[in-house]
Amino acid sequence: MSFVFEPKPQASVAVVGTQDRFPIRRIYCVGRNYVEHAKEMGFTGREAPFFFLKPSDAAVPVEAGQTGSVEYPSLTHDLQHEIELVVAIGTGGRRIKAADTQKHIFGYGVGLDMTRRDLQGEMKKQGRPWCIGKAFEQSAPIGPITPAAQAGDVANAEIFLQVNGNDRQRSNVSKLIWNIGEIIEHLSAAWDLQPGDLIYSGTPEGVAAVVAGDTLTGGVAGLTPLSIKIAAAS
Ligand code: MN
Repeated sequence: MSFVFEPKPQASVAVVGTQDRFPIRRIYCVGRNYVEHAKEMGFTGREAPFFFLKPSDAAVPVEAGQTGSVEYPSLTHDLQHEIELVVAIGTGGRRIKAADTQKHIFGYGVGLDMTRRDLQGEMKKQGRPWCIGKAFEQSAPIGPITPAAQAGDVANAEIFLQVNGNDRQRSNVSKLIWNIGEIIEHLSAAWDLQPGDLIYSGTPEGVAAVVAGDTLTGGVAGLTPLSIKIAAAS
């Protein structure tokens, strides 16, 4: 048997402290999961968590100490950053209870949920899927994964994003509306989680537009920071 064309190599991301890499299966994302971000998007109150996906080949893995490159995408005039704690699943499962989630988590990383906000807004208005606003090329930059045992207290870690050295987002993971255990409980009730799944857990307030030439540096205390530069559209 041979393929009719060469299949793409498996997308993967570095793992801190080893040469081995974490192979990416699916990229799940949680919407509106910090109160102050929900407010800036025009929502209040505790909604049930909801999810969207990005294709695994939207991942832009960035090595430790490097600055990744993300091309300014097509169709938009409002590309926005969302800094997020990313949970990396090492052991799959379905109907996982929040209290049992630790053994399913391989580790944690820092990710950017890049968003074509104008297109997302248009889709929201029309009641259509968010795909064009969220699931486009290079929309999921991600830094190295730190194994859970070495990641420290991520549930209470500071999370931040700077653009060209200036603070844009700064909050704490403790402010998640739905915490990591609850996210995994809800997610695994709807989908079968498998090793290699990444979960972008939501962004705090301060989301804003970037332009070509901007350098974005974000982090979660205890994890390897993530830097990308926005390249001009080609
Ligand atoms: Mn997000």
